[in-house]
Amino acid sequence: MNIMITGATGQLGRLIIDHLLQQIPQEQIAAGVRHPEKAVELMRLGAEIRYVDYDVPEGLADAFSGVSRLLLISSSHPDDGIRLAQHKRVIDAAAKAGVSHLLYTGLAFPKQGAGATGNVHTLTEQAILESGLEYTFLRNALYIDFVNVLGLQEAVRSGELVTQPGDRRFNSVTREDLALAAAAALAGSGHSNRIYELAAPQTWSFSDLAAALTALTGKPVAHREDAGVKHWIYSFLDKINTRSTSNDLEHLMGRPVTTLKDSLVPFI
Ligand code: NAP
Repeated sequence: MNIMITGATGQLGRLIIDHLLQQIPQEQIAAGVRHPEKAVELMRLGAEIRYVDYDVPEGLADAFSGVSRLLLISSSHPDDGIRLAQHKRVIDAAAKAGVSHLLYTGLAFPKQGAGATGNVHTLTEQAILESGLEYTFLRNALYIDFVNVLGLQEAVRSGELVTQPGDRRFNSVTREDLALAAAAALAGSGHSNRIYELAAPQTWSFSDLAAALTALTGKPVAHREDAGVKHWIYSFLDKINTRSTSNDLEHLMGRPVTTLKDSLVPFI
């Protein structure tokens, strides 16, 4: 079995490779990268480096030759139309190269959010289904990183987390947890033609966030709503499903998800 991860120099891809290296021989792991100069550390760890640029279809099938399981990490391009075209190039090349099993990192609960049917992840999953390849859809919940724009350090300094009014709850996850789950799906068996909602089994509110900041720092932080708070993050969050829960992530990881408090450590 030979496994390849695209976007391997990205934050999620790199973590997945770290986990895979602990589970399977390094000769069976290939890293698909578009900037080989960023892959020096991956090479040192023993992963085979192959050139994979979603924008350069020539050579993609060659890059995938001999690969049995391919993880397509969704493109980070800001334009969803371009992302979909990039993903389709990878899917076509995977089928041409004889890859048997294609795994894809999409977004959790895509069918319950606004613009569901037309979103890039749903359309990519559709294209994978149409390819006839074995598939696994790893639908990742919201990365915890979004809290970074909520002014956490200021909240700890002032003792007040101030947010826009609204009844919001969030299902957030760490890349570390997602990477562990993805590595389990890549290296393990029984994941063919399965869909996993890689989300936490519970959600949290801004009041919970303030309480977690208090517990983490030992300084009291209260939550207050203020209609004067303006940030694009609120309209973004309102467009996606951040309330649904799932046990899939914990099942794949074989351990509980990282707590809200622990996942805030990098942002304080
Ligand atoms: P990241 O650190 O930005 O990594 C993205 C990876 O995609 C990088 O390795 C990048 O290559 C690669 N890439 C971009 N365009 C490419 C192309 N044309 N051809 C080949 N590779 C290309 O993102 P991440 O944190 O690992 O997250 C992985 C993906 O999750 C993102 O790309 C995005 O689609 C999605 N995402 C999810 C959430 C969420 O909340 N669930 C949030 C943000 C993003 P370089 O290293 O060469 O730049």
